[in-house]
Amino acid sequence: SYRSRSAFKLLEIDKNWGRFLSRNEICAVVDLGAAPGGWSQVVAEKLGWINPAISTVGRGVIVAVDLLHIAPIPGVHTLQMDFLSSQAAGAVKNALSAPENPSGMADIILSDMAANFSGNRVRDVEMSLDICHSVFQFAKDNLHVAAAASAGTKKQRGGTLLLKHFEHPLSREFREKYLDPNFNSVNYIKPSASRTGSAEGYWLCRGWKGLQSH
Ligand code: SAM
Repeated sequence: SYRSRSAFKLLEIDKNWGRFLSRNEICAVVDLGAAPGGWSQVVAEKLGWINPAISTVGRGVIVAVDLLHIAPIPGVHTLQMDFLSSQAAGAVKNALSAPENPSGMADIILSDMAANFSGNRVRDVEMSLDICHSVFQFAKDNLHVAAAASAGTKKQRGGTLLLKHFEHPLSREFREKYLDPNFNSVNYIKPSASRTGSAEGYWLCRGWKGLQSH
């Protein structure tokens, strides 16, 4: 059983959007704002770390970050810290650099991070944008870039970013400036498992091209 209802949101998004969590080449996933751990449980299952039928060892590296403690999940490396702090990117990078993940890059970055509501709409949007900027900054440096096939290597698609945000004109600007130009596709998703009336949504950004210069 899952630790949060959010787990069902992630399962629904994965199912409706090409099962991006289920591909064989995935070997490194970062889960930001992961407590209590529902999304990490889903990812750990997909990578074979949680399987009640056979006791097996999963593949790849999963790194989960939250301000709050996350109780252990098989295959998941947890970091209790503020992702907006200056040490966070280095700590996650370090955890990604494991023998199971030779490139040290992330194939998938998930962010369900949300600050507590202040009740002040402007403040809430600002905090959500701070989170989006900081996740994008991390993705820019750590998301695996698409690569053409060359001798002895297969063509690789660019990494995926799933990013929670609040609907607002400023969020749209963020998307147009940072996401649209740098990914092959960006889709807005409002999962049915999320409370109706809430302004929260997700962007599913697929095929990271690397930062495009203007
Ligand atoms: N996806 C999670 C799951 O499936 O269990 C639920 C995540 S919950 C909606 C949002 C989380 O973001 C909270 O646990 C909160 O502590 C975390 N969060 C908010 N701001 C953060 C920050 N600056 N750094 C790390 N975590 C943060």
